[in-house]
Amino acid sequence: MQRRGGARVAAIRASVVASGGVDPRERSEAHWLDGRIATPMSVYPGYETTASFGLDTYATFVVEVEATTGEIGIGLSHGGAPACWIVEQHLARFVTGRDPDDVAVITDQLWRATLHYGRKGLVVNAISAIDLALWDLRGKLAGEPVHALLGGAVRDELSFYATGPRPDATRQLGFIGAKLPLAYGPADGDDGLRRNLEQAASAREAVGDDALLAFDCWMALDLDYALRLADGVAALGFTWLEECLPPDDYAGMAELRRRAPRGLRLTTGEHEAGFDGFRLLVDMSCCDAVQPDLRWCGGLTEALRIAAYADDHAVQVLPHVSSVYAYHLVFTRPATPYAEFLMSSPDGTTVQPYFGALLVDEPVPVGGRMRLSALDRPGFGIELAPGTRLERPFDP
Ligand SMILES: [Mg+2]
Repeated sequence: MQRRGGARVAAIRASVVASGGVDPRERSEAHWLDGRIATPMSVYPGYETTASFGLDTYATFVVEVEATTGEIGIGLSHGGAPACWIVEQHLARFVTGRDPDDVAVITDQLWRATLHYGRKGLVVNAISAIDLALWDLRGKLAGEPVHALLGGAVRDELSFYATGPRPDATRQLGFIGAKLPLAYGPADGDDGLRRNLEQAASAREAVGDDALLAFDCWMALDLDYALRLADGVAALGFTWLEECLPPDDYAGMAELRRRAPRGLRLTTGEHEAGFDGFRLLVDMSCCDAVQPDLRWCGGLTEALRIAAYADDHAVQVLPHVSSVYAYHLVFTRPATPYAEFLMSSPDGTTVQPYFGALLVDEPVPVGGRMRLSALDRPGFGIELAPGTRLERPFDP
């Protein structure tokens, strides 16, 4: 269709950040995210950190969709140069010349055109970045923030929990609670489990009885270990255990949820992609809350489908980090009570922009909260910082 004076996508570009941006995973000084964290690789000696198996190579890439009127929509995801190749060499043909208001149609075409080699992971990251860039552009063309395009905010202020290693410090900052990285996995045996529970107990002591606490298990556990950990943290009043099992183990997740102690919630989904994957999580009763990441699940268009289905089945939606992309959505959702903020400062005790120096005035929580007025710029309010140097590896 042709609407609103005929603004079209004149160009789409996919780039890696050559300098100026600071991804939380691209850093030089000692950082808590580089410490000991249980992952699926922890069963092998020598892989106790995420960098040890190459998570730090999974760099941020930038999709820009430029309108014939000059406005630029920006989508960010992970996947570096290979994701840029997918955007420039394959998917650009579905975007150039189109009306950005046709984002749902365009995104459906991106899914259908990649089913033979996509469905999860890198290809869906590419789709997500394009979708987010189109939504950003739609807002910029309309002069409206994305939350307004979605039908309006349901609250004036949003609360946040903090993900990081210092629940004491983040509670002091005003966050409603904390999600801790789990340090030890099944390969570390009973001693590791004891240490995990010691960390959980000292976190509870630090934040008091009324604060939210959770462990992020990042796909690292097996069913038996997850059940033992669940028993331990339920006794400490933890709110949830996150992503205990590998994302394809739907049967294992369902079994875990059946056998976990009452009152302890199970969450997952940051490494799930696409509506059909989330439908499986819901239909198989794998979790109490799904956690789509808007940069990885298929973008805002797919997240809206996922959220509608989860709402219909009384499964909560707690989007995984992703900064403004998630905040605009969460502000519009009565059934999502708070948002996540990753403490990306090296020691996890101070609030820094999630995307580092990449964006101009990225909104961050103040006192653990964010006013809706922080999101009043058109689109997602995303503008690349002036010093950012992009490299476009597959400029056709
Ligand atoms: Mg997580």
